[in-house]
Formats: sequence, C-alpha cells, structure tokens
Amino acid sequence: MARIVIAGAGAVGASIAYHLALLGARDVVLADREQIASGATGKAMGGFRQQFSTEPEVRLAQESAKLFRELGPPLFEAVGYMFLATSDDGWNRLRERAATQQSLGVPVDEVDPSRVRGLRIDDVAGAVACWEDGVAEPTAVTAELVRRAADLGVEVREQTDARDLPREVLVVACGAGSTELVPELPVRPLCRQLVDVGPVADLPDDLPMTIEDETTFHFRRRGETVRLAMTEPVPRWTRDEVVDDELVADWRVRLAHRYPPAASAPIVRAWAGLYDMTPDAHPIIGWVDDGVYAACGFSGHGFMQSPAVGSAVAHELLHGTTPLDLTPYRLDRFAGGAIFPEQTVL
Ligand SMILES: Cc1cc2nc3c(=O)[nH]c(=O)nc-3n(C[C@H](O)[C@H](O)[C@H](O)COP(=O)(O)OP(=O)(O)OC[C@H]3O[C@@H](n4cnc5c(N)ncnc54)[C@H](O)[C@@H]3O)c2cc1C
Repeated sequence: MARIVIAGAGAVGASIAYHLALLGARDVVLADREQIASGATGKAMGGFRQQFSTEPEVRLAQESAKLFRELGPPLFEAVGYMFLATSDDGWNRLRERAATQQSLGVPVDEVDPSRVRGLRIDDVAGAVACWEDGVAEPTAVTAELVRRAADLGVEVREQTDARDLPREVLVVACGAGSTELVPELPVRPLCRQLVDVGPVADLPDDLPMTIEDETTFHFRRRGETVRLAMTEPVPRWTRDEVVDDELVADWRVRLAHRYPPAASAPIVRAWAGLYDMTPDAHPIIGWVDDGVYAACGFSGHGFMQSPAVGSAVAHELLHGTTPLDLTPYRLDRFAGGAIFPEQTVL
C-alpha cells in the first residue's frame, strides 16, 4: 500500500487521516508545519449546519452530521441554527430555501423566534430552524480525530513541512497555504474575524446559532460568552490576519439590537483568520497532479464539511471510488466555466 503523507493537521487533514486509518491504511503520516489546528480550524466559529442552498452542499452536511452526532457534547451541541428574516422578501427567500432543503430531507421548519429568551423579534418577519444543526469546538474536535487516528496507527508529526517527507501520495490539506504546495490552485486568502463578548448573565444553554439572513450578522453561545460574526461589507483579500476595530464596534451595536441581554457585555477576545476561497466558494477535492491530491478551498465552511470530506477522500485514495459524489468539486470545473452557486456563505 502506498505511503500517504497528509499536509496539514487542520479539521480536513485530521479527518482524512482518521478515515484512512478506519479503512485500514497502514502507512499514513499526518504532518503539520506548525501544530494541530493552528490554521483556520483553530480560529473558526464552530458552526455546523445542514441548511445550504445547493444539493451537493446539503449532501455533504447530512453525511457530516453523523460524526458530529456521534461526538456529542461537549464537542458538539445540537442547539440548532435559526435564520431570521427582517423583510417580506427575505422571508419569502427563507421559505423557498427551506422548501428545497426539506425536499432533500433536512428537518428545517418555520419556527416562532420568541422561543429564544431575550431575542428581539419585533422587527422579525419570520424564522426557520433546523434543530439538528448546532455548534462545535473545532480545535477539540480536530484533536479528538487526531487522537483516534494515532491510536489506529497514523504517524502524527507537528513542526514538520510535509514537503520534506518521502511519500507516494501527497494530500494537500493546507487551507489558505495550499497554493504554496500547488501554485496553480485557484485559492485566495480572505481575512475574516470573530469577537467573543461576555460574560452574559443567564445565557440560555440552548441558545441556537442565530443568523439575520439579510445582514448575515450571526452569533452563538460559547460558555458564558457570545461569539459574533458577519460577512464583511468590503472583502479583505489579504493574508494579513488583522482585526478591524470598526467592524467590532458595529457588531456590538447589532448585538445590542438583536440580543439586548448582551448589550453591555465587554469584549473578551477578537481575532482574525483566513478563509481559503475558490471562485465559486466550493472546495477543490481530487487529484491535481501525479501523486498529488487536493482537499482545500473550503471557503469558510470546511470545518463542518470535514467529516464527510475525510471519509470520501479516504475511500477515493484507497479504493478509487467513493460513496459520496465528488464530481462537483473537481478542479477541472473551473476550466469548463461550470459553477454552482451556493448562496449561504456566511
Ligand atoms: C473566522 C473564521 C470563522 C469560521 N467559521 C466557520 C464555521 O463556523 N464553520 C465552518 O465549518 N467553518 C468555518 N470556518 C472555516 C474553517 O475554519 C475552515 O474551512 C477549515 O478549518 C479548514 O480546515 P483545513 O484543515 O482545510 O485548513 P486549516 O485549518 O487552515 O489547516 C491547514 C494546516 O496546514 C498546515 N500547513 C500549511 N502548509 C503546510 C505544509 N507545507 N506542511 C505541513 N502543514 C502545512 C497549517 O499549519 C495548518 O495547520 C471559519 C474560518 C474562519 C477564518
């Protein structure tokens, strides 16, 4: 069996390593030039949802849900994802999207947002939620998968550049660093940031990930704090991981409006990380050269997709086929100009 070296021990590389080991691969090295979860994974919001707008993304999420359910609390808490619309148009859009998702088997329903204690709803036109969705701890989940992989015989090497290791197959799972290994990949770094505020008294344990669909402002509970995020008005196409304080101030105003119990909560921490964006905001998964396989370009939702992707990649590497259809994610789709539009990139 070929020696497989996985470059990058983020959520994606860890999941590939774990699933390769589960399938019986015996000669696998998981290498990170820094340490486990030191890339985007360690900086992520930790959201997991099945509520996407295209069938391939929904299928990836449904498959991933199995591992998140198995991990359970405290690594994953199924507190739900609730999308709010604040306009009639937005409400129609949410309902149309929910109908598509329901047709694919996602248990998403119209809900009464007043069930979330403390939430401001006098300007809400309607809400939908899937209560199987929820929030996870990306660093801890990744560490758990690495631990399982190591128990099954995978060699784990931190502070090691994967390019320096002998191998028959190199799997590139380096997030925004992937173009250093394969320069022709159409992956661009986009700087994004998160803020934790707190402590907030009496935060409901089951506060769902709450998203304003029109603005994309969203927040989740993390312990006694609330974690905030939003798509930025002017995309920052840069490798510099810098916090924009004006955005932080704006988000606190938005939080005070949507969730008044957190209005005066001080900032605990603000940090920035990189999305690895592709032209259509979908990942690149598959062979890109002789002996080189890519699993990158996750465009802001790689943590939640990593369980299904890890399993599919492991199947393809070992058996040449996979139960999950990876056709929509091949690199050559860009040459043909084919794209499929995922609308819910947060
Ligand atoms: C602010 C923010 C919020 C996010 N929120 C969410 C969310 O709520 N839900 C979600 O699903 N996703 C979210 N994401 C996206 C998610 O974090 C990423 O899609 C996912 O973590 C990508 O994982 P990865 O393993 O592909 O890459 P990374 O986690 O970036 O890991 C790549 C690793 O490769 C290593 N590496 C690089 N070059 C080499 C080399 N030559 N040799 C060895 N190792 C190398 C790096 O050190 C790094 O550890 C968010 C991202 C950010 C920045």
